[in-house]
Amino acid sequence: MKIAILTSGGDSAGMNAAVRAIVKWGILKGCEMWIVREGYEGLVNGNEDRAEKVGQEVNANAVAAVDKELAQSIDITSHEPDKNLLHNLRFGDGELLRDGTSEYVGGRTLKGRYIVRVGWDDVRGWFSEGGTLIGTARSAAFRTPEGRLAAAYNLVKEGIDALVVCGGDGSLTGADLFRSEWPDLIQTLHSEKRITDAQLKNHSHLKLVGLVGSIDNDMAMTDLTIGAPTALQRICEAIDNINSTAYSHSRAFVVEVMGRDCGWLALMAGVAGGADFIFIPEKPPTTMPWEDAMCAEIHRHRSLGKRKTIVIVAEGAHDRELNPIRADYIKDILTDRLGLDTRVTTLGHTQRGGRPCAFDRILPTVQGVEAVEALLEAEPSTPTYMIGVQENKITRVPLMDAVSATRAIGKALKDKEFDKALSLRGPEFLEMLHGFRGCSSYNSEAEKLPKAKRMRVGIIHMGAPAGGMNAATRAAVRYCIKQGHTPLAVHNGFRGLLDDNVDELSWLGVDAWAARGGSELGTNRALPSVDMGGIASKFQEYAFDGLLMIGGFEAFNALLMLDDARKHYPAFHIPMAHLPATISNNVPLTEHSLGSDTSLNALVDACDAIKQSASASRDRVFVVETQGGQCGYIATMGALAVGASLVYTPEGGMTLDMLRRDIRFLKRRYSLDVPGKSEGRLVIRTEAASKVYTTSVLTKMLIEEGGSLFDARSASLGHTLQGGVPSPMDRARAARLSLRCMKFLEEHHEILSQKPHKSRQAGPNTAAVITIQQSDIAWVPAQEMVKHADMANRRGKKSWWGNATDLVEQLAGKPQFLGLP
Ligand code: ATP
Repeated sequence: MKIAILTSGGDSAGMNAAVRAIVKWGILKGCEMWIVREGYEGLVNGNEDRAEKVGQEVNANAVAAVDKELAQSIDITSHEPDKNLLHNLRFGDGELLRDGTSEYVGGRTLKGRYIVRVGWDDVRGWFSEGGTLIGTARSAAFRTPEGRLAAAYNLVKEGIDALVVCGGDGSLTGADLFRSEWPDLIQTLHSEKRITDAQLKNHSHLKLVGLVGSIDNDMAMTDLTIGAPTALQRICEAIDNINSTAYSHSRAFVVEVMGRDCGWLALMAGVAGGADFIFIPEKPPTTMPWEDAMCAEIHRHRSLGKRKTIVIVAEGAHDRELNPIRADYIKDILTDRLGLDTRVTTLGHTQRGGRPCAFDRILPTVQGVEAVEALLEAEPSTPTYMIGVQENKITRVPLMDAVSATRAIGKALKDKEFDKALSLRGPEFLEMLHGFRGCSSYNSEAEKLPKAKRMRVGIIHMGAPAGGMNAATRAAVRYCIKQGHTPLAVHNGFRGLLDDNVDELSWLGVDAWAARGGSELGTNRALPSVDMGGIASKFQEYAFDGLLMIGGFEAFNALLMLDDARKHYPAFHIPMAHLPATISNNVPLTEHSLGSDTSLNALVDACDAIKQSASASRDRVFVVETQGGQCGYIATMGALAVGASLVYTPEGGMTLDMLRRDIRFLKRRYSLDVPGKSEGRLVIRTEAASKVYTTSVLTKMLIEEGGSLFDARSASLGHTLQGGVPSPMDRARAARLSLRCMKFLEEHHEILSQKPHKSRQAGPNTAAVITIQQSDIAWVPAQEMVKHADMANRRGKKSWWGNATDLVEQLAGKPQFLGLP
């Protein structure tokens, strides 16, 4: 199959990772891969006739001569796909694309050529680049029937029979139209004698797949679009920066973010950035006039002592009558009514730019693989699919269903059916909205729970620090205060509890915690078994009605112990929740623990820098050692996110045979590089992958075996993987899960408090871990968790990410390069 890829509409971070994965996976599957420059505009423009390039009339000899010239200039002798590996490696003009050159270079030119053949090495290093290297455009010509006829001709002319389009809903609508018109288009071309009988027969059907590249996350039937996580990261970085200046001058800032019909960016940024007020299209203010409601809320925050105010407004925000709510107007209100020194920051195109975050490398990679698979399986009768992600699973949904569902949200907004629009966004969106309110608003005494329902909640951090621990604590504290509960911070884990290191947290005191890394409460690995009796008496002394433990495997262990000790100590008959937070992501059953996204981003940052250094030295392999205990999650997903060549995990272990094969692979791979243009390559190794083949031993082996082909160095990322500032995904997830934990404590407290105090027996379901299982949130009692835990190795018995190891090595080309003689 000949597959072409184009990116269209607004650019988004992660589009390059998608193109890279599609090109590589296509080649692995024996396809010939092409890219279309400048989106649909390139498809309409196509390639100048090759004969024109040498200034001759169109004739077969001239074309053959140019083909030969091209073939020689790139050091191959065959044009047959898959005839040999070098062909796949070097056939293409990708390096010209990367240089952004459209002029004549080294015997080749991209001038007048929009549809370009690419090879394996053309897409190397594309991961870390923002935007789209193959160019994008908004094409008026493609909207016309003539334009689409030209596009069809250009594809048939190059023999291309499948197309992947990566863009927003407009681009995907255009794609679907193109495919549905295809039979008519090629009949027309045939009747106009522009294509031959054979071309008509061979191109009777266009195979097409869509990927959603859009920073707004506005497409229905997929949880995330390519580029949205990076845009959120850019917004949160900006808000974090604004926070410090706002605090210094006691200012208010109105921050305008992108999102015409979709408030996802504004909402997530509001939760992750700790904003005071947000405006999104799906939920216009209900209290009118909204200016009064906003001022009342912000005044309340100020009267508590807040020195800074952040209001986030989506560019498409409006009131219930669809009158736009503009940043400048909000600024005037805050200045005039509250006397605040207010500034407006419009983030604009900075939100699109920059290096993709880890998620925007992993998601497009697995989606790109799925796109190729969908094309290979496509029949004329199969619908055009859009590749999405739902509940942590890559999905194929009929493209037009997704576009129609997206349009339905737009229509609901236009019809002022805001509840409908909100429900079409899905339950997670709604929960985030409740989460934002839970963390940002402050109830009056009358709005709080009745005294009998109020609790004293102990909050404790356990194990190593992880990004999001503080954000989770902040959300819990804010919710407690809103409801009338008393949040009690236990500092320095269970040892701190024994030392009476406990105090009450305030609404204002945790204000800045969303963006803080590490553990504000202090954490350590001491388990309650250090002095179970002492711990029980402290539970009694502080009169805890509920306990929230935020931490990794230790916290799970602690929960098990406390549950077990209930038979001896009545003080433990209270609801207890564990919120998993660990960079290792090794808590059983849950797919994501807090901190794992931050850690992946830290790994990506470090590896981008290391790879740059490795590439500068041309022929260097870097062995990067990661933390992760006995769990290879960080190493594996990190390897996928940085395009590592090899990955070693504790689950997979390391053997001599494995090393022999891997070294052979690296030697072959380096031997095929164009001399002087070798690439730096990464090998990622979890520190506990093997006791014998340590990072040092592996590096020495590589130096010894690499000979004149490559050199090797090692780098241990160690504690840097805990990350500095937590990622927005971790912060938002922290708030959502923490509020769920508080609800869990409230529900069970209410049931338990109906029983007489002395005979209160809390069942096993009241000591539970909150887990994310395929995006559903499930409570699993600690006793049940044990069945899914490999207690000796401190990890789950099953890992959902296990197959990713193979994917890493396939995308590095290992099977292909090992197949060489
Ligand atoms: P973004 O979300 O960044 O706006 P988008 O894909 O929605 O991305 P659009 O400008 O709507 O961006 O569409 C990009 C291109 O797709 C258009 O310039 C046009 O070439 C093509 N396109 C969009 N809608 C159609 C259509 N109905 N028919 C044909 N082509 C279309």
